[in-house]
Amino acid sequence: MKLKSSVIAISIILICYGITHAWGFWGHQHINNKAVFTLPKSMFGFFKTNIGFITEHAVDPDKRRYADPEEAPRHFIDIDRYGEHPFDSLPRTWKEAVAKIGEDTLKAHGIVPYHIPKMLYRLTQAFKDKDKFKILKYAAELGHYVGDAHVPLHCTRNYNGQLTGQHGIHGFWESRIPETYGDDYDYFVGRAHYIKDPITYTWNIIKESYAAHDSVLQIERELNAKTAADRKFAFEERGSTVVKVYSKDYTAEYNQLLNGMVERRMRQATIAVGSFWYTAWVNAGMPEINDPEVIAITETFQTEMDSINNIYTNRKRMGSGAGHED
Ligand SMILES: [Zn+2]
Repeated sequence: MKLKSSVIAISIILICYGITHAWGFWGHQHINNKAVFTLPKSMFGFFKTNIGFITEHAVDPDKRRYADPEEAPRHFIDIDRYGEHPFDSLPRTWKEAVAKIGEDTLKAHGIVPYHIPKMLYRLTQAFKDKDKFKILKYAAELGHYVGDAHVPLHCTRNYNGQLTGQHGIHGFWESRIPETYGDDYDYFVGRAHYIKDPITYTWNIIKESYAAHDSVLQIERELNAKTAADRKFAFEERGSTVVKVYSKDYTAEYNQLLNGMVERRMRQATIAVGSFWYTAWVNAGMPEINDPEVIAITETFQTEMDSINNIYTNRKRMGSGAGHED
């Protein structure tokens, strides 16, 4: 009986590790951090001085999912809920999509490609107002959603392999692999560029992610079929807890079969994040913001973050594994 309950506890830990955060906290923070280095001189000083904020707050939207029911759908889109040719039928703008499909259905299946242009607009406004705190806050959050859009399993209803017996694959792809190999990735991704048509650009990211989701699942399915169960998982200590994780060998084999896909998507996410920031600044009329000044966190923001962090920590302690929808 005792053994049985500890097995259950360990499985829960695997599931939580598996599906709670897109790119994991590690991935999101690295993407935002490295995106700063794509910026032109006229923006770089300000972003570099505040890189600590941009990095740390890359994960606020994931934390906020527990405190704000509106948050969850902003991180994904289940493209395959929309028929055989979803990209032909899905309207590209929020207004048209609401008119055709309805807000409830859209939110149930995720709205990341509609939320990115909205965040770009907010960031543009913050640049226009030269509101330096809001620039940092919206830049950090926009970076998060752009990062999520690059994850193949954020674009399918089978987001954690739950429909194909591959439970845990979400975190395997987006957390375990980058956390294992990400320090060796090449983050020289070039210079941020101006995005002429942010809506089309966003949908192209979704198309690429969706196109890759089949490989993400199929490659693991094939690897699983030829791997003995006791080679697939291992136990690792995380602080005072022992967690069940995909073994080092299994992770290495999967990563090799993916042929650099995780690194490629992370690099593409990094340049896209820098380009969205740059585009907001250009669209705002290229305001002078380059003074190397550390921006203080506002009191309102600190209070909001304290509350979000409290709820988040409690939910994590209770072992609530948030799925792709919640
Ligand atoms: Zn997310």
